[in-house]
Amino acid sequence: MAFQPGSTHQVTLGKNPERSRDHNRRVVLDVVRRHGSLGRMHIARLTHLTAQAIANIVDELVGENLLMETGRLRSGRGQPPIQFAVNPDGAMTMGIEMAADHMVSTVLDLSGQPRSKRIMPVRDTSPKQVIAHIRAELETVRAAFKSPLLGIGVVMPGPFEIEGMTSVGPTTLPGWANIDAANLLTEACGEPVTVENDANAAAVGERLFGAGHSISGFGMIYFGAGLGLGMVHDGAPFRGAFGNAGEIGHVVVAPGGRACPCGQHGCLERYASVHALREKLCDAGIADCDFTDLAGLHAERHPVLMEWLDEAATYLAPMIAMIENILDPETVILGGMLPDAIIDELIARMGQLPISVASRSRRVLPRVMRGQTGQYTAALGAAALPLFEVVTPKLETAATRPTE
Ligand SMILES: [Zn+2]
Repeated sequence: MAFQPGSTHQVTLGKNPERSRDHNRRVVLDVVRRHGSLGRMHIARLTHLTAQAIANIVDELVGENLLMETGRLRSGRGQPPIQFAVNPDGAMTMGIEMAADHMVSTVLDLSGQPRSKRIMPVRDTSPKQVIAHIRAELETVRAAFKSPLLGIGVVMPGPFEIEGMTSVGPTTLPGWANIDAANLLTEACGEPVTVENDANAAAVGERLFGAGHSISGFGMIYFGAGLGLGMVHDGAPFRGAFGNAGEIGHVVVAPGGRACPCGQHGCLERYASVHALREKLCDAGIADCDFTDLAGLHAERHPVLMEWLDEAATYLAPMIAMIENILDPETVILGGMLPDAIIDELIARMGQLPISVASRSRRVLPRVMRGQTGQYTAALGAAALPLFEVVTPKLETAATRPTE
């Protein structure tokens, strides 16, 4: 992440003393987190804040257990400076991914390390049941970890609050249309809850823990129940004005094609999605349309799976070129709820992608690559959302959904 201390962020935020104090705390936490451990003078140099301001902020953060002393650094002359590091046990965040048929739960410590990951099948995803599941999980996490909880990030398939594009399709959660999920869940859990769509959260997860960790601008095509695009720009998620940026699943790629629950025909999601694959397998009478052994079907090169791979690749390749032309990313990462081998084969079957602004001969990264965080990407990203609010100065606008 290319945060430059003393850049416009601080200047524009400096007018309001409360906001500026809060901002400076995040700058300090972020600098320490990224360097591992630092002394006060070093922090002051890196943040362009005064030694006195740093002394106050560091004392405060140590008092709150967010920073800890890690000893003195031998530097040759004089009294060696005390070093400070982020205290992993100072706080934790919880991430929940709600999908149409399962729930993934994760816990991150303050240093961003995953402390637990669990996946559970879920039959009923109505608001009442989702609240019950999350509250039960919250109790389990509270019993297992002693650190104070900073907040809960919840991901659900989008799009959010769109009229006409109904939320009753098989790839969204029934019963959640026109509900302010963040408010409802915050009230029900008694903890701050941030809600994000699955593709954006997956992009954040991949940025923190996977293929995107050294890439500051990428697109992430995410195979959840539907198909979404998450975008990371300058190290931060790009969400759009209403949290729905990247809704590529409902772009019509086959005019007059298969009917989609959104009301259109030929949406990308009707071809290139886990749901479309499941439909194909069920239609063909494959007993395993519940996906218990997708990797096995792939290993035996099952013809129905091969057919889906061809179809998905055909419709996905032009979409990738379009994403490149619009966003000019460093790369496009493919990830989500499919075994690695299937994603690798999908990439291979796209073969020579259509020409776009990304068709450079001296590329550092391939145009398309597989994500590295597997099934847990979106849940890890969800847990990272409240963490970012506390430790990352750049993302302060990224974690709150705009309300109208
Ligand atoms: Zn559609």
